[in-house]
Amino acid sequence: MNYELLIDLHKMNKRQGPGSDAQTLKALQLSGLMTSTQSMQIADIGCGTGASTLVLAENLNASITAIDLFQDFLDILNANAQKRGFADKITTQSGSMEELAFEDGSLDVIWSEGAIYNMGFAKGVEYFKRFLKPGGTLAVSEITWLTTERPEEIQRHWDSEYPEIAIASDKIKILEDHGFILKGYFPLPESSWIENYYAPLKNTFDGFITKNDSEDARAIVESEKAEAAHYEKYSHYFSYGFYIAQKV
Ligand code: SAH
Repeated sequence: MNYELLIDLHKMNKRQGPGSDAQTLKALQLSGLMTSTQSMQIADIGCGTGASTLVLAENLNASITAIDLFQDFLDILNANAQKRGFADKITTQSGSMEELAFEDGSLDVIWSEGAIYNMGFAKGVEYFKRFLKPGGTLAVSEITWLTTERPEEIQRHWDSEYPEIAIASDKIKILEDHGFILKGYFPLPESSWIENYYAPLKNTFDGFITKNDSEDARAIVESEKAEAAHYEKYSHYFSYGFYIAQKV
């Protein structure tokens, strides 16, 4: 995998995975955090260029640590935070979500959109929990089946891509088994995938190939196109589910 090229392709976009400002806001509303007046300690994990981080900064009295594996994404987030006047609310940190530098029980909120699959949902929920204060909020979006029945082709695809994909009730059970109370769940609508993710991504393909004229670059574009086509064909069967939960 040529990470440099992948980063180069994805950093041009506002988001690096399906979602939208409106869906982040919806999750925020379900969390009950918008009415909190005291300053909160928040981590946005796998933040990418920070689409969600900026929505959190705009709507909450908070000090946000935004974490991603790739500094290139964080550089863009820092520039945008500066431009939008949120630089004093957002600190970026490059590193792995599997090795967080927070004290146990130190965070009011852990936010993570389209990223927890990198360590696996169950493992991530278990690991993130320790960093939350009692009563703290976990808000994550995670690949989720929308139906209990589905064509064999898509089942096979996801069995090899991400076998932890499951229906929402299974994901909710994992949260409950780890001592979380569910405060809200909703699946991301198609627009979060098509209008907010794949369409802007497709618009960058030509420029990306002109800039990086290589086999690797063309292979990346082909694989992104195949992923988008897979989504368009099977959008009734899966999405990201947004789970908002509170540590007991
Ligand atoms: N939350 C952003 C990005 C989602 S894409 C958005 O919704 O737009 C997933 C992100 O997770 C990418 O930015 C990727 O760089 C990051 N990532 C992947 N593995 C990671 C890891 N082990 N630790 C931290 N971040 C990781």
